[in-house]
Amino acid sequence: MSKYLILGASAAGISAARAIREQDGGGEITVISKDERVYSRCMLHYIIGGQRSEDETRFIEDDFFEQHNIRWLPGREAVKLDSAGKKVQLSDGETHRYDQLLIATGASSVLPPVENLGRGKQVRSLRNLEDARDIIRLSGGTDTVAVIGAGLVGMDAACALAQRGVKVTVVEVAGHILPLQLDQRAAASYERLCKKHNMEFIFNDMVASVVLDEDDNVQGLKLKSGGTVPCGMVVVAAGVKPNIDFLRDTPVDTGRGIKVNEQQQTSVAGIYAAGDVCESLESFTGQVMPTPVWPSAVRQGWVAGSNMAGRPVRLEDNFAFQNSMTFFGLSSVSFGTINPPGESFRVLVDDRGDAGYKKVILQDGRIKGAILQGDISAAGILGALVKKGINISGLENRVFELSYADFFAQKENGEFYFK
Ligand SMILES: Cc1cc2nc3c(=O)[nH]c(=O)nc-3n(C[C@H](O)[C@H](O)[C@H](O)COP(=O)(O)OP(=O)(O)OC[C@H]3O[C@@H](n4cnc5c(N)ncnc54)[C@H](O)[C@@H]3O)c2cc1C
Repeated sequence: MSKYLILGASAAGISAARAIREQDGGGEITVISKDERVYSRCMLHYIIGGQRSEDETRFIEDDFFEQHNIRWLPGREAVKLDSAGKKVQLSDGETHRYDQLLIATGASSVLPPVENLGRGKQVRSLRNLEDARDIIRLSGGTDTVAVIGAGLVGMDAACALAQRGVKVTVVEVAGHILPLQLDQRAAASYERLCKKHNMEFIFNDMVASVVLDEDDNVQGLKLKSGGTVPCGMVVVAAGVKPNIDFLRDTPVDTGRGIKVNEQQQTSVAGIYAAGDVCESLESFTGQVMPTPVWPSAVRQGWVAGSNMAGRPVRLEDNFAFQNSMTFFGLSSVSFGTINPPGESFRVLVDDRGDAGYKKVILQDGRIKGAILQGDISAAGILGALVKKGINISGLENRVFELSYADFFAQKENGEFYFK
């Protein structure tokens, strides 16, 4: 009987556990997680904003572990890997042996090198349930919060805090919010909406230091431009790093994350990695990089688990550059390239002001990227065209009205395929 050990009980770890059990009904599966609960990180801001309870962020059935005969050991951390002896040591001193190991330990927030950032008593990031609880508690003690970074996590935190009634100032080094997800035009719609909800933005600037009182309580921020932002709390959303400390002095190869092949195997036989902890071949760009989005983690976990249990599968459709978001009731999706990277790209735009915005970026008849805001009903078809690289030559003049019927054909056996 095979012994499977999974480190991490989130998108990648849970998906792998399901895949293993599907394939191997009798294998012994143990899942270990630092987290005490299973929850979706993508929903942490809903807890802060008051839209969901902690229980409502659980993404597995209540009896998931019993139903699948999986042993779950929460609240424990892997601290050392002995790959030659095939065992993992945990923070509680226990050692667990494995035949196949999956590392799905995700990532942690990083604090940029800003003076006093690590000292301030009211400085937090948003990655874990404990962070969300802390943010709720600490924001109750102030009426002004600063958020460093206007990426998706920063904006999730900022909008959730605004919904709690505090004034929020967001400091971003780029010229607009969500610079990796949206162009300036689409970002501007959100900036206008946010300003109506007691939020402010400072762009093209960086935080130089956090101003603290003699007890290390946060008083405000000093900016590189010389400006200041008075605030009683800071939320830092300036990127993540993979949780790989316990792999120090092991032969597991790492770069910007654990290196894996298309089966999610690491450089060591019998050890796999999946999700935010690893770097993998990203399908839009064809480059190896971290792909820190939930669907990628689920897919990679499934690929890893399948291979661990003896079903050979390869990672495909590993798209990091696809995003959907809703802030203050306005929804957007984006895929692939959001700004034309060169002159060989053509841009088609349908801009209806507050009523909606659509943009497609084409190269050689193929859609390389798209943004939809407001009416996002074309997300399915545009996303499929981008991902499958389908040539739409001749249909450019109605690119925003395309439907699957424009591209689908049916085989004699009834199966549909893209023309
Ligand atoms: C606020 C926020 C909003 C987000 N919104 C979106 C979104 O809208 N869409 C989207 O696609 N993605 C979003 N993401 C990203 C998404 O949550 C991650 O890509 C996803 O959670 C990665 O899953 P994972 O399983 O790789 O790792 P994680 O979710 O990071 O989980 C890691 C697991 O490993 C455990 N662990 C860590 N270290 C150890 C250790 N040493 N030993 C044992 N266990 C350990 C943890 O307890 C946890 O169970 C968001 C993230 C955040 C923080």
